[in-house]
This record gives sequence, C-alpha cells and structure tokens, in this order.
Amino acid sequence: MEYEAVIGLETHVQLKTKSKMWCGCANAFGAEPNTNVCPVCLGLPGVLPVANEEALRLTVLTGYLLNCTIPRHAKFDRKNYFYPDASKNYQLTQYDQPSTAHGFVDFEFNGGISRVRITRAHLEEDVGKLTHFDRTSGVDFNRAGVPLMEIVSEPDLTSADMAYEYLNALKDILIYGGVSDCDMEKGMVRCDVNISVRPVGAKELGAKIEIKNMNSFSGVRRAAEYEIARQIEVVKNGGKLKQSTRRWDDVAGVTEEMRSKEDAHDYRYFPEPDLMPFAPTDAWLADVQKRVVELPLARKQRFITSYQLPAGDAEVFKNDVALGNYFEPIAKQSKNPKAVANWVINNLRAKVTEANEREKAEQGALGLEPADMQLTSLTDLKFKPEALAELIGLVEGKSISNSAAQQVFAEMFESGKAPAAIVQEKGLAQVSDTGVIEKFCDDAIAANPNPVADYQAGKVAALNSLKGQVMKLSKGKANPALVGEILERKLKG
Ligand SMILES: [Zn+2]
Repeated sequence: MEYEAVIGLETHVQLKTKSKMWCGCANAFGAEPNTNVCPVCLGLPGVLPVANEEALRLTVLTGYLLNCTIPRHAKFDRKNYFYPDASKNYQLTQYDQPSTAHGFVDFEFNGGISRVRITRAHLEEDVGKLTHFDRTSGVDFNRAGVPLMEIVSEPDLTSADMAYEYLNALKDILIYGGVSDCDMEKGMVRCDVNISVRPVGAKELGAKIEIKNMNSFSGVRRAAEYEIARQIEVVKNGGKLKQSTRRWDDVAGVTEEMRSKEDAHDYRYFPEPDLMPFAPTDAWLADVQKRVVELPLARKQRFITSYQLPAGDAEVFKNDVALGNYFEPIAKQSKNPKAVANWVINNLRAKVTEANEREKAEQGALGLEPADMQLTSLTDLKFKPEALAELIGLVEGKSISNSAAQQVFAEMFESGKAPAAIVQEKGLAQVSDTGVIEKFCDDAIAANPNPVADYQAGKVAALNSLKGQVMKLSKGKANPALVGEILERKLKG
C-alpha cells in the first residue's frame, strides 16, 4: 500500500515592535540577561497589563497580507501551565477568538503555484529562555512578554520540500509587510510541525504527531523528511501511531518521543480578566489597511509581465526589495527594461557588494562590530537613479560602447559625476565615423595575416579576433556593430 504525508505548520514569529506586549520594556535582542524586565513582564503580584497597540496592528496587517478575515471581536486568554520559563504560571494568548482567521498563502512550488490555507494568526506573548549549564540552569526573562504571533496552517502540505517553500514564502511576506525581521539566528521565527500519514486516497487523517525544536527552515525540512519515513515504516510493519509530541535532534538527525500529546483542556484556558476584549473600529482597520503592501509573489509576476523580465531577474528583485525599488522607476522610463535590469543586477549590485566588502574589512580592522558598521546602501549612493538611467540611455543610443559604459559607471560610483561629463572628460564617446573605423580595420587586417587567412578559409570565428584588434586600436571607442560590418565587407571584397 502507498502512503502520503499530511503536514500542518504552527509558525511563531516575533513582531517588530519597539516595546514588549504588555509593558514598556525594550523588545531587543542580545542584551545582558534579565536587564529588559520589569514587574509586569516578570509577572509580580498586583501588576496590570496594557496591550501594545502596534502589536495588534501588525497582527491585523498580517491577517490582510494572508487574505484572512478580521473578526470585530477578539480577546486574550490565559493558558495555564507551570514551567520555569513562565514566571506568571500562565501565558497570555488568544484561544477561541483570535485577531485574524481563514486565509491562505500562495507560493511557488514544483514549477507551479501552490496554496496553503491559513487557519488563524493570533497574538500571544513570548516566554523566558532557559539555558542549561553543566550542573545548573538559567532563565533569561528579556524575551518574556515580547509580542509573538502564531500562524497556524491547515494540513494542506504534502511533503517536506513543500513545507520548506511555504515557510520561505511566509517569511518573505512578513518581511515585506514590516511585520517581523524574521531573523532565524535571533530566534525570531520558530516552528512546530504536525505530521501524519495515511494510505493514498484515504479521507481520514492519521494520528497527528507534533515535532518541536527545529531552529531553521532546513531543520524543518530534514525533520519532516525523517518523520514521514519513520511513520510510514511503523504503519507498514503493522504498528499503530498515537498522538504525541516528539523532539528533533538536529545533530543525530532523528526525532524522539517527548510526551504523549496534551489536549487543550489540560491548559484550563480562561479569558484574561485584566484586559478588555479587542474590538477594532472601521477607522482603525482602515488605518492598518493603508499599510498593506504588494506581496512578493505578486511583485515577481508583475515584474515579469510589465517589464518582460526573465523569471531569474524577477526573482532577484523579489528577494531584494531595495534593489527592486531602485530598478522600477528607471525601468518605467526606459524603452529597454531588460537592459536596466542587467545594469542594476550585474553592475550596481556587484559594485555595492564590492564596496561593502571593502568597508567591512576597513571597519573591522578598526575594531567595529558588524552591527556598528556604516556600509554603503542603495539609498546613499553618490549618484541618483536618474544618472544611471542617463548612462543606460547613452549605451542604448550608441553614444558610448558597453565597455566605455563600464568605465563611466565605475567613475560615477566613486565621484558621483554625471555620465555625460565623464564621457567628455575621458574622451569615451563612441566612434561611429566610418572613415575612422575603416582606417582601424585596414590597420588590423594588415597586422594580423593569420586570422585573415583563417577567416577567408571559412573559419568564421576568426572575425572575433580581428574585431578585438580594432576595438583595441580604437581604445574601446569604435562602434562594435560598425566594426563587424566593415571588417566583413573588407575581407569578403
Ligand atoms: Zn517589562
């Protein structure tokens, strides 16, 4: 019998707010343990939480970005449990009335577009972080009370690869929307994966097994691959699977049973008595809606259709928002957006990367940490996008050759001078005067009898070597198309 996997994901994302969910403590990574804390986030007796409005806005914004409906009534609940990472003995979350529900995410998979339905995205608070030493354990409450959004998907995913692509698409959407920086290394995104298997074609779901402790998307993919194979093996051998929670061991590459799964009623959820229910008004929702941005996939598709870009270029602009934003206004004014994409991706991006490498080395030598370094970005270049548009126009209009354009670009990147001024100053204007080019061609033919003989014997490629000689003689200024034409005519004649 053949089996198929059924996968659903619960993705926890730290929201990009200045302060925590219920108090004014900083929402910041990397501080000394237990320095961003106060009586509220430590849960001392007698304190009252005050909801962070920006966290509510970001959750509702996520709802819009994930095509969810936004209920007009949501509330917070206490999820009661005892563990050292929660000093209050409960975690505030949204149990049965979340801020957003019933949406979907479209993403690219296997050469097509796949859709995963979103059950809900709700707001909760993060808890402290436990660190285990040799003989003791420590708890850092800096993370306790940081706004955390949980995005729950329907079990619409059927393979580890598909889960991986969904997570990447979700991350892109949240970064585009400014909802979260989604920095995995800082623990801003964490996932639990629910996996079951069933005979192909069966309607009923198998026993749901939850996997925890993956700290990267590739970890999720490996854990899912392992767990799917393990479950299929068990049922093929006549075994029975039961609902449980397992832990992923990234080093050993295996999942291990942690506990049989607890049910919701074990947490004794009840509404938080110290917080008002959340009932957004039309005006409040309209304000949030103004922050809705174009989704990454939509942007990629639009760049392909509007600017006739190859999928590869559009993918680069999808992944690098700033680069895409730089490209678009220039492309709109250009007759050849493909050429603009080439310039922005191959020349501009390469120059910025090169400058950043140099800056990192220089500033690193001065003892600066990466977070404190000042690096060149697309918003502080010495020239304006219009100047790049002008340069591309000079190439398109055949006023300068491609190789001359490279020199002009290098100069404008360093000095910020206008392209036309650089062309003038360096005498780079392309020579389209046939008389001048004829002279260069005659010289090249006279000085290179071997390629000439090769060409006349039928070796068409020999023409390139002669073309190269003419370009050299003209210091890169001859119009290459004219050079080719004239050489051919002379050699055939
Ligand atoms: Zn606090």
